[in-house]
Amino acid sequence: MQVPLLDLKSQYATIKDEVLEKINEVLDTQRCIGGPMVEELEAAVAKACNCKYAVGVSSGTDALINSLMSLGIGEGDEVITTPFTFFATTGSIARVGAKPVFVDIDPVSYNINPALIEAAITKNTKAIMPVHLYGQMAEMDPIMQIAGQSSLAVIEDAAQAISAAYKGKKAGQMGTCGCFSFFPSKNLGGIGDGGMVVTNDEELYHQLFIMRNHGMEPKYYHKTIGGNFRLDPIQAAALLVKLPHLDNWSEGRRKNASYYNKKFKDTVVQTPVISEDCVSIYNQYVIRVPRRDEVVKHLQASNIGCDIYYPVPMHLQECFAHLGQGAGTCPEAEKAATEVMALPVYPELTDPMQDFVVETILGFLS
Ligand SMILES: *Cc1c(COP(=O)(O)O)cnc(C)c1O
Repeated sequence: MQVPLLDLKSQYATIKDEVLEKINEVLDTQRCIGGPMVEELEAAVAKACNCKYAVGVSSGTDALINSLMSLGIGEGDEVITTPFTFFATTGSIARVGAKPVFVDIDPVSYNINPALIEAAITKNTKAIMPVHLYGQMAEMDPIMQIAGQSSLAVIEDAAQAISAAYKGKKAGQMGTCGCFSFFPSKNLGGIGDGGMVVTNDEELYHQLFIMRNHGMEPKYYHKTIGGNFRLDPIQAAALLVKLPHLDNWSEGRRKNASYYNKKFKDTVVQTPVISEDCVSIYNQYVIRVPRRDEVVKHLQASNIGCDIYYPVPMHLQECFAHLGQGAGTCPEAEKAATEVMALPVYPELTDPMQDFVVETILGFLS
């Protein structure tokens, strides 16, 4: 049996005709930049996230960069974030000229540990960038409280968590703004790159909106320097077809996660722990296992897709060595990086496929 980590073809087969029809609408009208398709998606995503405003952008990375630029964060500023994330989180902070300051994670949720944030705040701190890792939101109540006390912005990196919830609030709803990615492997994936920023702040929305198009307003007049962060209408078309299925697909992932949880109960495999406050969308189903690297090799040899998110925490990346946060400064992130691995959890996965994954892992470790 073959079990890929993700099977986008089986999902596409269920919506192919609709996607092609919607893309044809874009091609027939030749509105190939911006236009009604992008606006329709922005309205739909804003609504789904309980936010007033949404700005479609070219990727999740550009969602983060646009947010930082629109909040005026740059040279000399510090942004507090987690070291246990995809590179884009930290890369975006560095690319606007600001300094990423890493705060260790909670070893249970893998998200930033709010109890450690205050000690990392300096007079240069401008924002906190929590990441909702694997589809589970970070502890937003304490994060927002700390941010409020020190007048910091909160940029939610919700690239892996669109429509996830914390105490009944949606990802992107509580922070100053929230950033989504439509990279094909995310729960709401486009047919290429894409992203979105959501916010309830009208002034910030306006800034995000003009920043996405070179800071231009009105046409050919530039008060600020922005970029080309625009979302393609072809991506918007595909995403508009997929968005109504998002909750169902996420429910399918939760069902698969609970099936794994049952099968791994009372074994050496540590299954994900989702807080009672949270509804996870399981962008990844991540376990901790002994002899992790051997298990990964064994699964690959057994035609089972798996991956490690992430093998090297950001504070230990070569390009961030100059920041001076060396080994030992974020011990929980460093430990997790040696123990975690992600299993297939996509909604189309079948019970026999999951049984095969579980048997292969437990057989190897017994
Ligand atoms: C995917 C991802 C991003 C970047 O999104 P792109 O669309 O690939 O630019 C940023 N942060 C996290 C946590 C991600 O998983």
